[in-house]
Parts: sequence; structure tokens; C-alpha cells
Amino acid sequence: MTEYLRVFKPFDIEDVRQHILIMGDLKGDCGACRALGIDAYQAKQCPECGVPFKYVSSRRLEANPGERFQLARRVHEKPPDLILIDYADYSKVLGQKKARDFFG
Ligand SMILES: [Zn+2]
Repeated sequence: MTEYLRVFKPFDIEDVRQHILIMGDLKGDCGACRALGIDAYQAKQCPECGVPFKYVSSRRLEANPGERFQLARRVHEKPPDLILIDYADYSKVLGQKKARDFFG
């Protein structure tokens, strides 16, 4: 029996940002160029900027904590070769990086 558990693993945040697909209810956004309305179930790469997607996340993971494991399953099953990233972790780390870049 397979269930979803979160794991902690080091990632290059810039690599994640350049290759992440942020899922909405049905369509996704490109993390690299912010193109909207990408068909996440078909797209292997961004139709706008052409980056291949390696990661996927969903804002709904955060908005619906009670459903997060069902959501994880749904998000993960569609493009199964993508690495599912927790959105809260991603946005927090990205915010810290932006702050460092700005003040550094
Ligand atoms: Zn793009």
C-alpha cells in the first residue's frame, strides 16, 4: 500500500524556480516565466518559455490542509515524473531568497 508522506531533501531553489509548475484547480502556471493556463496534464514543458518542468506544486496544498494528501495524490498522478514540492516550503524559501538578493 502506497501513501504520501512529506520528505525533506536539499534542492537548488533557483533550479526549482526555473522548472516548477504551480497547479491551480485545472490549469498550471510556469514558475520561470509566470505563463498562466498551462494544461498540466499534457505539458512536459512551458508552452511560452520552453523550460522543461521537473517539479510541481499546488497552492491548494496550503489552502486545504485537511485534503492535502488527497490533493498530493491528484497533483502527483497526473504528471507522475515530476517531483512534488510543498508550496508553503517553496514560497517561504523563495521569499527568503528574494529578501537576501534585495538586501545583499
Ligand atoms: Zn514558462
